[in-house]
Amino acid sequence: MVEPIRVVLDADELPKSWYNLPADLPEPLPPPLDPERREPIGPEALEPIFPKELIRQEVSRERFLPIPEEVREAYLLLNRPSPLQRAHRLERYLRTPARIYFKREDLSPTGSHKSNTAFAQAYYNRREGTERLVTETGAGQWGTALALAAKQFGLACTVFMVRASYDQKPYRRVVMNLYGAEVTPSPSERTEFGRGLLARQPDHPGSLGIAISEALEHALGSPGTKYALGSVLNHVLLHQSVIGLEAQRQFEKIDVRPDYIIGCVGGGSNFAGFAYPFLGERLRSGRGEDGPQFLAVEPVDIPSMTRGRYEYDFGDSAQRTPLLKMYTLGSSFVPSPIHAGGLRYHGAAPSLSALVDRGLVRAIAVGEAESFEAGRIFAATEGIVPAPESNHAVRAAIDLAIAAKRSGEPTTIAFNLSGGGLLDLAGYAEHLRDAPTLEAAAGPVAVRA
Ligand SMILES: *Cc1c(COP(=O)(O)O)cnc(C)c1O
Repeated sequence: MVEPIRVVLDADELPKSWYNLPADLPEPLPPPLDPERREPIGPEALEPIFPKELIRQEVSRERFLPIPEEVREAYLLLNRPSPLQRAHRLERYLRTPARIYFKREDLSPTGSHKSNTAFAQAYYNRREGTERLVTETGAGQWGTALALAAKQFGLACTVFMVRASYDQKPYRRVVMNLYGAEVTPSPSERTEFGRGLLARQPDHPGSLGIAISEALEHALGSPGTKYALGSVLNHVLLHQSVIGLEAQRQFEKIDVRPDYIIGCVGGGSNFAGFAYPFLGERLRSGRGEDGPQFLAVEPVDIPSMTRGRYEYDFGDSAQRTPLLKMYTLGSSFVPSPIHAGGLRYHGAAPSLSALVDRGLVRAIAVGEAESFEAGRIFAATEGIVPAPESNHAVRAAIDLAIAAKRSGEPTTIAFNLSGGGLLDLAGYAEHLRDAPTLEAAAGPVAVRA
C-alpha cells in the first residue's frame, strides 16, 4: 500500500477562531507612540486609515477571536485547510534520521500566505462601508493577495507598485489586473508626494517606503477609501494564525510533536501565523525548555533581528507612521536588492521582536546563495519550487536535518512553505548560472527505496 505523504483536514475542520498571542504574553506589548509627543496613540488616530474592527483586533488581548463565517467560506477558495506535508524525498536525499514536515501556503491561488489576511481585511472593510482599498506592493505578492480579496468582497482596489518592480516584474501586475485591481507605478503623478519626487527625478525607481507614503496619502484624501497593510501589525499576524492552528490539529492527528518550528521573516506574519499557536501553548503551560524550539529566519542582507536594535522606530521609510517598538535597522535603511523581495523590510513585527528579546524565539540569518541552493534541492527532491522568501526557511530546515544526521537524533522539523516561486524564476536563473550543478555538489537526487 502507498502511504500518504499529506495530513489533510476537512472543510469543517477549518478553525473557527484566530489565535491572538498577546493574550498569553506575561505583559502587554509596548504600545505604538505618536512620533511628536512620544505618547501612546489612541485607537481613534487610526480610524481614518483602518476599519474599526481591525483596530479593535489590533489592541485586543482576547485569546481567540471568531473567524466570520463568510471569511471561513472564502478561505476554501484559498485551498484551506492547507495540507501538512512530509518531505520524505528530501529526507532520503539528505540521508537524515530527521523527519521534515512543511505547511503548504504555496497552494493559495495567489501563491502565498498573504491572502489569509487580505480576505479578512477586505471582509471587515466591506462590512463597515469601505468602497476601495489602497495599498503598496514591492515584488507583488501582497498586491496580488489584496487584489483578489477586494474583488471577492466587492471592493475596488488600487495598488501602488514600486516602479522598478513594475517595469521588471510585469507578470504579477498582469495577475493583479486580471483580479480587477488598478496598478500604478510609484512614484506616481497621483499624489503630491509622488509628483514632488518625479519633478526632481522623472525616472525615479521608487521604493517600498515611497509606495507606502503614496498609498496612505491617496487613502486619506479619497472618500470611501481605506488602506491595507500586509504584515507587521498585530491584526495581520492574528489572521495568519489560521496556519498554525491547522498545523497543530494536523500534528495531533498523526500524534507527532515537532521539535523545531521554522519560518522566514520579512515583517513576521507568516512566521507568526505558523508559530504563535504552538508558542501560546507553551506560554500557557509554563513549560520552560520543554516543547519545540522556534526559529525565525531572515536574510543576511537585511538582518533586523540578528543585527538590529530593539527600539522605537517608524514603520515606514517616509517616517509618517506611529513609532513601533521593534528590532530595526533604522527606517532609513536601504535594503540591498535581493530576490526575496518580501523580506526587504527594515524591522520585524513588534510582537515577534518582543519574543526574540525574551529569548522565546531564536533569530538566525541565511545568505542569498545558500537559500537559493536550498530551494534548488527542495525543487529537485519534492518537485515544488519555493518562493525565494520561503527558501530561507527551507535552508534552516535542511541545516537542522544535516545536524541531526551527525548526532543521530530523530529530530522532527516543521517549516512553513510561505509561498511558491514560479513567478520568481529570474532569481533561480541567476543562481543556476553561478552555482555548480546539484549532481556535482552532492550526488544525484535519487530516491532510494
Ligand atoms: C511577503 C512574503 C514573506 C514575508 O512576509 P512576512 O510578513 O514576514 O511573512 C514571506 N514569504 C512570502 C512567500 C511572501 O510573499
